[in-house]
Amino acid sequence: MNPVFNQPINIDFPNGISLTIKREDLIHPFVSGNKFRKLKYNLLQAKAENKKTLLTFGGAFSNHIAAVAYAGNEQGLKTIGIIRGDELFDKIEENPTLKFAQENGMQLEFISREEYRLKNEDSFIEKLKEKYGDFYLVPEGGTNELAVKGCEEILTAEDAVFNYVCCAAGTGGTISGLINSALPNQKILGFPALKGDFLNDEIRIFAKKDNWNLISDYHFGGYGKINLELIEFINAFFDENKVPLDPIYTGKMVFGVIDLIHKNYFPAHSKILLIHTGGLQGIQGMNLKLKQKKLPILKIDD
Ligand SMILES: *Cc1c(COP(=O)(O)O)cnc(C)c1O
Repeated sequence: MNPVFNQPINIDFPNGISLTIKREDLIHPFVSGNKFRKLKYNLLQAKAENKKTLLTFGGAFSNHIAAVAYAGNEQGLKTIGIIRGDELFDKIEENPTLKFAQENGMQLEFISREEYRLKNEDSFIEKLKEKYGDFYLVPEGGTNELAVKGCEEILTAEDAVFNYVCCAAGTGGTISGLINSALPNQKILGFPALKGDFLNDEIRIFAKKDNWNLISDYHFGGYGKINLELIEFINAFFDENKVPLDPIYTGKMVFGVIDLIHKNYFPAHSKILLIHTGGLQGIQGMNLKLKQKKLPILKIDD
């Protein structure tokens, strides 16, 4: 694990508000940010149970799929990725995430979207065991008790100075860890990358306090959807702060926080900590889509 640091963002807000970003994206080049945190105790558990194989689920651009493939390979575990969308089976070469996963030894299995919806059902998991043999199951997005435990390690003693902690939310595992480890004076704000309000219930399964809120106005039309305004925001943020943001999660969250500052959502002199949860591996795949649509591409580095 590479060291993580808090980087001040030098934007002058009129009301004394300060922004700082926790560079969890730098934890690891491939198992970045929250996926590293979420896998940590699950990998230990898989080993403790003497499992030889990890099986998990994800979409074609999933940071989680890339992370499991790499981490499994590194730990000497076989990995199986059940991928949403059976039309993708012959598209591995054109998809940087799937290609990376395969190069790291992941066995990719493509299933239809209908079948994919069964992923949490016991009978479906049993069928997978008959087909692939015994495995350690890592849920979609990696969220379970042990993942939340890993995410409780994101905030440290030096973060006590912040009164708001903001993060992007997918399955809600990361925000649950932040909620559990936050101090009483800290408020946690989650920015869902998906439409719909199933997340509140998910978070309540893992989170033990009510010091949090979800802000659902910044999903930009839903998971993986992006527009010119967001691309331009991410590229300008990179130019000004030298912090690359991913277009699926952290770009939308940081856009949302800055927009809310301008709308006076936060009290004057708030100290806001943004959690950079990583996800930069997805930029390459997104840029291929943007080129097809003749939109500007996202900057990864200078
Ligand atoms: C997966 C992911 C998230 C969402 O995390 P959850 O724990 O599923 O809410 C946020 N940011 C990035 C970069 C991710 O890859």
